[in-house]
Amino acid sequence: MNEIIVKEIQVKDLLTKSNLPDSDYVINPYTGCAHGCRYCYASFMKRFSGHKEPWGSFVDVKHCDKLMNTKKLIGKTVFLSSVTDCYQPIEEQYEKTRSILKQLRDVDCTLNISTKSKLILRDIDLLTKCKHCTVSMSINTLDEDFRRKMDHASTIEDRFSTLKQLHEHGIYTILFMSPIFPMLTDWKGIIEKSRDFVDCFWFENLNLRGTYKKEILDIIKTDYPQYMDLYDQIYHKKDKSYWQSLAKDIHDYCMEHKIPHINYFYHEELVEEKKQKNAS
Ligand code: SF4
Repeated sequence: MNEIIVKEIQVKDLLTKSNLPDSDYVINPYTGCAHGCRYCYASFMKRFSGHKEPWGSFVDVKHCDKLMNTKKLIGKTVFLSSVTDCYQPIEEQYEKTRSILKQLRDVDCTLNISTKSKLILRDIDLLTKCKHCTVSMSINTLDEDFRRKMDHASTIEDRFSTLKQLHEHGIYTILFMSPIFPMLTDWKGIIEKSRDFVDCFWFENLNLRGTYKKEILDIIKTDYPQYMDLYDQIYHKKDKSYWQSLAKDIHDYCMEHKIPHINYFYHEELVEEKKQKNAS
């Protein structure tokens, strides 16, 4: 992994009101993410924080002098984190996420944490004290070589093992299969390997936009040329039939095997399509 440029910054408040459908507030203890996923949707953040360095090579650590106003979180849903991974490696040293959990553990709010790191296990003592806590772990492959090409987060085995340990401690676990790469994500294999310790599966398709679109398609072209026609169909010709058929396969499989799941494929577009259908 490349060296990470670390900067410490002062912020006025850690809480941000959220526009995300399932969250009232988000907390991002860091700007940037050393996990550096090649497909990271949050990489657009660079534009707002003035960073010119490549995504994955910088992290700003946020210091905040005042405590959060936890009164306004009562009955609300709080998401950690939307544009960074709150358990990326630097958390081991700064413990920003841990200090946030200490402030939240007695608050009657729903806390949703999303990560790709086994470091979350360090905080099991606090997570089990939080009133309503869910942890989602992203896993989109069983192939460690592919995983290594795509991110610098925990290994696949470590992610499974983390989910298992969280589950054993009574924490609600979500396996977020995201992003699903056409023909490369063995979704059935991932389900079967983890269904004993996963409370719910979420699915999201690979969405390619911005600067990383070319980068990902170049990897497919070089390393998986046999699928290039399909990727071309999906990402240049905008053909949705692959996703429609996969969404049905996943749904049928989960129903047949009684596996709790939520499908976030083309979430916004599907909502819009449904609205128009209902109106006609
Ligand atoms: S872990 Fe999440 S925030 Fe971090 S680079 Fe990967 S996708 Fe982006």
